[in-house]
This record gives sequence, C-alpha cells and structure tokens, in this order.
Amino acid sequence: MESRSSHDLEEVRRRSDLVQIVSAHTSLRRSGARLVGLCPFHEDKTASFFVNPQKQLWHCFGCKAGGDVFNFVEKTENLTFIEAARWLAQKAGMTLREASPEKRTQRNALAEINRAAAGFFKGRLRSNEGSAARAYLAQRKITDESMAAFDIGYAPGGWEQLFTYLRGQGFSAGDIAASGLCLPKQKGPGYYDRFRSRIMFPVCNAEGAVIGFGGRVLPGDEPGDSPKYMNSPETPLFRKGQALFALNLARKPMQQEGSAIVVEGYFDCIACHEAGLKQAVATMGTALTSDQARLLRRHVERAKLAFDADSAGFAATLRSAAMFESAGLSAEVVVMPAGKDPDNFIHEDGAEAFQKAVDQAITIMECRLRLLEEQHGGKDERSRQALLRESVRAIAELSDAIEQERWVHWLAERHAAHSKERAAVVEDAIWKQLHSRPAARKASGGPPAAKPERSDQIAARLQAEGQVLWALLSNDEIARKWLGRMRPQLFSDEANLQVFTALCGLAEEGLAVAVDVVRGRCAQAGAQRIVELAVLESADDEGELGRLIERLEDWEGGQLVQRVADEVIRGGLADPLPPEMEEMEQKKRRLSKRIGEGSAGKLPR
Ligand SMILES: [Zn+2]
Repeated sequence: MESRSSHDLEEVRRRSDLVQIVSAHTSLRRSGARLVGLCPFHEDKTASFFVNPQKQLWHCFGCKAGGDVFNFVEKTENLTFIEAARWLAQKAGMTLREASPEKRTQRNALAEINRAAAGFFKGRLRSNEGSAARAYLAQRKITDESMAAFDIGYAPGGWEQLFTYLRGQGFSAGDIAASGLCLPKQKGPGYYDRFRSRIMFPVCNAEGAVIGFGGRVLPGDEPGDSPKYMNSPETPLFRKGQALFALNLARKPMQQEGSAIVVEGYFDCIACHEAGLKQAVATMGTALTSDQARLLRRHVERAKLAFDADSAGFAATLRSAAMFESAGLSAEVVVMPAGKDPDNFIHEDGAEAFQKAVDQAITIMECRLRLLEEQHGGKDERSRQALLRESVRAIAELSDAIEQERWVHWLAERHAAHSKERAAVVEDAIWKQLHSRPAARKASGGPPAAKPERSDQIAARLQAEGQVLWALLSNDEIARKWLGRMRPQLFSDEANLQVFTALCGLAEEGLAVAVDVVRGRCAQAGAQRIVELAVLESADDEGELGRLIERLEDWEGGQLVQRVADEVIRGGLADPLPPEMEEMEQKKRRLSKRIGEGSAGKLPR
C-alpha cells in the first residue's frame, strides 16, 4: 500500500479552520482567548464545549470528548480518520493522495448520489417534462429566486429515469439503492425510482450537503395510494427526525435574529423566507422530535413555533414547545387566524401581517390557557368555573413564583372580563385555590424534573474545575500563590485531578509552570487536552480565580456535609469529632451565608 504522506495531512490540518467547522454544528461565543458553546455530542445545557482557536483544539467538560479538527469531523460526520481527512481535504480544495482512488466509502458515495440526483431533478424541472410542475409552483407563488435558493426540482414520471441517469454517472446499483432514491423491482431484476411525478425539495445538513429529499405529488397526478408528501427513507446520511429543512439557509439569519421560526411544511418554510423571515426551518410535515429540538438548540436559544392554528395544531404546538424547553430552548407560539398555516397566511394576509404575528408570539403558558378557554367554550357559570379550575391547575405547575403571579393576574383579568366579578376579587379567589393545592402540585411532579438540574450542576462544576486549572496554567506566579491553598478534594474529575497533581508536583520541585512539562506528566488523554487548551492570558483577573475556587470549595463542602450526614445516619461517628467535622462547620456557615445571599446560582461568565 502506498503510504499517504504525513505532510499531506499536516497541510489539510493547516488549511482547515476548526472554528468554522465547529460553528456549523453549534454557535460559539468568545470566552477569553477561547470560544465556548453547547456541546454537539451530549445533552448540554451549560455550554461545556471549549475551542482553542490558536491551537485548533476542542474539549467538552460534560462528555469529555475532545481532540483536533480531524476528531471533530470523525465524530460529527461519523467517519473514520482517513475519511475525515478526505472530507477536510475536499473542503480545503485539496486532493489527498489516495491509496486506492476508486475505493469510495458508501457514505461518500451516498453524498455524491444525492448531489447528482438534486442536479438531475433541477434539470428536469426546467425541461419540457417539468412544465406542469413549474405551473404548480407558480400557482403556489414560488418565485424563481426561491426555486434556485432551495434547489427545487422535479422527479419525472416513468420508472427508471433517475436510476438510468445515476448508473450513467458511474454509481453502482447497490449504492443507488442504499441512497433510498431507487428500489429493487419486486418482480424480476432491476430497480425503479422511488420519487415519480413529484416536486422535489432537497433536505440539507447545516453545511448545505444534500442528505435526503422530500417530494410532493402534483395535483391531479395523485394515484390513490400515494401520499401527498413523501420523504427519503432512513439512510446512513438521512434520519428524518434529525434533520430540519432549510437549516443550511436559516443558520446564519437565526443567529443574527436571535431566534428561529419553526414551521411544518416545505411551502410554509419557503413562504417565510420569501416574506423576509429567513430564520425559518421546517420539520418536514411530521411532529417535532427531541433530536430536532436539540439540533436547533445548537444554533439558537429561542424558537417561535408557527404550526396550524386549529385546536389539534395548538395541542401539537404545546407538545413541541415542551420538547423545546427540555432541550434548553425558550419557545413561543405564533398565533395565526384559525385554519391558516404560514403559507396561506402570508399569501392571503401579506408578509407584514405574518411578521406582526411573529413579533407578538405568545408564551407557552398563554398558549396553554388559551387552549383551555377553547376547550371550555361555554359561557354559563359552570363552564366558567371549570375553566378557572383547570387554568389554576396549569398555573400551579409553574415553579417560578414571579411567573405564577403574572399568570394569576392575567387569568383574573380575563375571567373578570366575562363575568360580573371584579378582577381583584377573582385574583384573591385564585390565590386561595392555589394555596390549597400543595398536594396536587406534588402529585403532578412538583417543580419539573430535579434530575437534569443535577447533571447541569455536575457539568458546571467540571467546567469550573477546568477554568481554575487554566488560570493556574496561564501564569506561574498566580499558580504558585494559589496552589498551596487548594486541596485535591476540590477536583471531582479524574482528568482535572491529574492536571492539578502535576501542577502541585512542579511547584513542590520548585520548577516553573510550563504547559509542555505539565502535559508530559499527565497520563490521561483528557487531562492532556485540558492542559493543551490552556492559553497564555494576561491573568490579571485573580478575583475571578478566587471566586471560582470558592465555588469549588462550596461544592466540595456540600459533598462533605452529605458524607458526614450519611455517617451520622449510620450511627458511625466516633466521639471525638473527626477533623473533617470542624472544617465542615466552617464550610456550612459559609455555605448557608452564600445560599442566604442567593448566590448559589450561575457560574460567573
Ligand atoms: Zn459534550
């Protein structure tokens, strides 16, 4: 086998920009000399993912993944090292000297087949065969610009046009079948096209590579058993629940706008873009999945849902909104006139009306209370009381007292408007009902899920440990000053502890802190990465370091309290209090003081 020269790989590394490649998967913000964002590889809510742009390295404190640009591409694109190198080389406009050029991996072949198919469909739309499709698109008010921007195409009728075309391009029948675009014939040999007489919408990943297709049948062309919309089947490239239509186009606009608009259909999405709301993506006609919510969360923090405005749509919207919130996205609901979707709303009432509805998107709670109003539509006293009861139950589930107050007020005003009672009286009555329901609140789960909060806290702690280490690594003088005051117990993570121990070793031996030496003393790859991510900063912010260390002490203090409490429960504490106990008393005092000040909240940023 001819060896691929390491020179080539170094050239690929040199020409690849880790920050740019990572940015397609998660939005990064600056934090000192590093960049930080939500990790694309685990359910991250605390931004545990760090990139050092100078050294082109990344590390996640949450799932402990990390490495260089090759590792990142391996993980995100699910490739082997060599495939990742080839992928990066292609991006950088280089060709790697291949061991066997004709041996393409199936994934690469699928990507190329999709690209070729998209080109084929586009060509057909412009051909004579595409005239009915063009007429339909014109009727749906799709402009030429949109057709180009979204790469809209047409899959012609007949059974083998695409298959024949792709074979002619040199793709193997096996790879073509694996792409899901063609299927083996049920009788006899050969393959037939999955999409026929359909308008084709390519679905891309965040970077714009075609990973699958959605096809809409032409009106009048609908054979009885054929669905109106059809998507590519699941392939190694395409998992419908993990893709969002137009994400590649909406990625930058949604970051600029600070929020995304989420719609259901292809036409809804295109109509939004035409109306100037280019931060819109579509779920491709199905219920939103948690994977899609997570995918979106990597790019933006807020989402506005513009789903169909009937009751069923409202209920679906609420479910999707809950999914967004558990992915760490704040969700709002765009209220549209009954029976409308964004596509016909924009075309009938105008872009401005839709823009206004987007601007006035309501919160999930309001959406929930409005849905209740719809369900308890009666105007008589009994249905009004039932509505009030149900609404109070919804408000009782809020864990935030200020939010509760807000909604009690809202509900009282609304209720008073439809009855003879005064709002203030209703408000009093609501509070009485709320306070009489502590049991109900517990039964419904109380403040939502304590578990993810805990894992958030663990992630925040690991990150704080890393930041302390970085501060120590960045400045010899500061390291010397602080190392003596810190105890190994402050570090809850093996990799972090290894870095700390190496630092202490240097200090004891009277050696200066040098990143290379510290790295050499760390055996774990994770520990080595943390060291490598350190950057020389003008570490003038010693106050910040002090606060972080105090934070670690608090966490450790909390653990200590728990340990001693466990001992006491087991009845195992000996008469003379262990030295830990005295220390614990001090920590407990400081802890309760801090908790009293309400400072046990977020990490300083
Ligand atoms: Zn992670």
